[in-house]
Formats: sequence, C-alpha cells, structure tokens
Amino acid sequence: MVLKGFVLSIENFGENDLNLIFFSEEEGKIKILVKGARKPQAKLRGLCQFFIFLELKVVKGKRNIHLIGGRELKVFKNIVESFKKIKETSFLLSILNGFSPFLKKEPKIFALSLKTLEKINSLSEEKTDLLKSAFLIKFLAFSGFKPELKKCLICHKLLLENFVFFDFKQGGLICSACQKTKNSDQIKISSEILGILQNLLYKDFDFLKEKNFSEKSLIEIDDILKKFLVWRQ
Ligand SMILES: [Zn+2]
Repeated sequence: MVLKGFVLSIENFGENDLNLIFFSEEEGKIKILVKGARKPQAKLRGLCQFFIFLELKVVKGKRNIHLIGGRELKVFKNIVESFKKIKETSFLLSILNGFSPFLKKEPKIFALSLKTLEKINSLSEEKTDLLKSAFLIKFLAFSGFKPELKKCLICHKLLLENFVFFDFKQGGLICSACQKTKNSDQIKISSEILGILQNLLYKDFDFLKEKNFSEKSLIEIDDILKKFLVWRQ
C-alpha cells in the first residue's frame, strides 16, 4: 500500500523501533511501525521526520502496519528554518493528531492541512499567525463544528451592531438584545473581530494572505479559537 501524507507524531517503541502517527490522503490518520528505526544507519530513519510531504510504502502485518520504504515529495524547508513556523506548525499537527480518529478518510481536512503547510512554508513568518487561525476555524467547520458567524443563534437576525457575543457552548453569535445575563461561556467581541473571523472562515488563503490584520486582533482571535476548540473536545 502506498500512502501520501505527513507525520503528526513520532514515538519511541520497544528497544529500536518507532511508531509514526501519519496523516494520509488515502486512509486518514494511521499508525505505522518502523522496525529498527533507532539503530544507527537505519535506512528508514530519514522518512521519520516532521514537515515533509511523504510517499510511504507500507505493508499490513499480523498486528501492525509496517513501513518498508518511501520517498520525500516535498521538504518544507522554510518551516524547519524558522522557530516560529516550527512552533505554530507543531501546534497544528498536535490538533490534527488529537482530533482525528484513526483510519477515517478526511479528504477536505487533508487538503486543508497540506495547503496550510505549503502556505506556512512559502509565505513570510509574519503571516504564520493568520494562517494558523484560518486553519483552525476551517478545521472546526470541516469537523462538523462550524461556528455561526452571520446570524444571532437566538433571534436569527443578521448581526449589524458594533459588538456581539460569541457563545462557546452554543458555537456561535448572540446579539446584544438576546444576551441577557453574564455568562462565562460567552465573550464580547467587536464587529472588527467578527469581520476577521468571517474572513478566516469563508475566504481562501490567496485572499487572506493579502490582508494585514493587526497583531492585537490576531491574538484575540487565536484566544477565541483555542477556547472554542477546548469546548469541542
Ligand atoms: Zn438575537
């Protein structure tokens, strides 16, 4: 079997082996045993690396799926060379690893993830936070948790005010008229932040890369999306 994809996690196993958690186009998330990978001169060791688009040859054994060969399709070398890019991409890989079930094909999430790796690699470091947030909100939407960002979840009116409330529990917005009591599941957000969230959810990377959202806004958005993720776990 041939699998295209990238490594989400690498764990030591036994005395000399490694277990790869691999996100593949063909099978979704899959665990692959690499026998002898930790021995010096191990041939397959080179394939057990992060930030590379790989083609792996695997065979099904009695208990495990074994790596027998493969090649690099693309090394995301600009990620490897930047501490910030490594840090943020590693976070995205950990989200993919944490949320994806094993052996479930996820074509939309796979395409989104690969595109995100390519953009983080090719664009400047300053765009990394924007790309990360765009990934997170699209990932949530593709995983069945698309936040409601256009209408109030209670009165269903379009949101045109200067500020609204984002409700983490209900997964979307509530207008100020419907927001009755102070609630720790909700935070107040400005129309500017709402506009950025809508852009991140609905627009593609080529549109987004031209945008210069302020660092302060992106930090606020990162915080909202991470809290929203926690609610979905
Ligand atoms: Zn309302």
